[in-house]
Amino acid sequence: MNIDIISVFPEMFTSFFSYSIIKRAQQFGKVKIDIHNLRDYSLDKHKKTDDYAYGGISGLVMNIEPIDRCISSLKNEKKYDEIIYMSPDGKLLTQSLANELSTKENIIILCGHYKGIDERVREHLVTREISIGEYVVSGGEIPACILVDSIVRLIPGVLSDATSALEDSFQNNLIAPPVYTRPKEYKGWKVPEILLSGNKKKIEEWLLEKTIERTKKYKKFKN
Ligand code: SAH
Repeated sequence: MNIDIISVFPEMFTSFFSYSIIKRAQQFGKVKIDIHNLRDYSLDKHKKTDDYAYGGISGLVMNIEPIDRCISSLKNEKKYDEIIYMSPDGKLLTQSLANELSTKENIIILCGHYKGIDERVREHLVTREISIGEYVVSGGEIPACILVDSIVRLIPGVLSDATSALEDSFQNNLIAPPVYTRPKEYKGWKVPEILLSGNKKKIEEWLLEKTIERTKKYKKFKN
């Protein structure tokens, strides 16, 4: 899978993509992530990519031209399945949306800043808009990191069998059961006996029971 990210702050991604599962996914060749600095596509002599908003509205808006130039140049190289704009009013990111996107070959993710991007980008250049939740953060970079992480861990072969994404919460609409590690007892707080019993069948039954319990509890506070 190829993921091309367009941002005015490309350095923000460096650390995030250099650790853990995303790092391994890149090393294994499961995903190629390229960050494109939008400023490189600005024709302005100061490499500006934003301007004042029309209509006397306060705040800066990202210009359409550098975004169009960047997307066009990427499209000359590859055929894209989706051109995604991270936006607070986009479709809410869910596990099923992440599952769907993990099957794509090539995607572009566009990160906004300031007041947002010129509406014409949304009308004419973008194929999808995705939100990480009903709140506003200052830029599309953290939302893009969250989107990429949720997708990449679902690409077959990225997670080992032992950490299979199929056992994660929200796959099959279920919540994952609780997990424990050493020590067996801490400050008097004990690991459930059953997990130490070695009885595989009983442990599986217990895990299923906890999964159902947690799913019910989750549904209750969600509604
Ligand atoms: N003025 C806009 C918010 C702009 S925030 C409004 O009221 O809707 C600046 C940028 O951060 C946006 O262009 C978008 O790319 C990103 N962003 C902010 N909140 C987001 C969210 N919840 N999900 C995805 N992207 C978000």
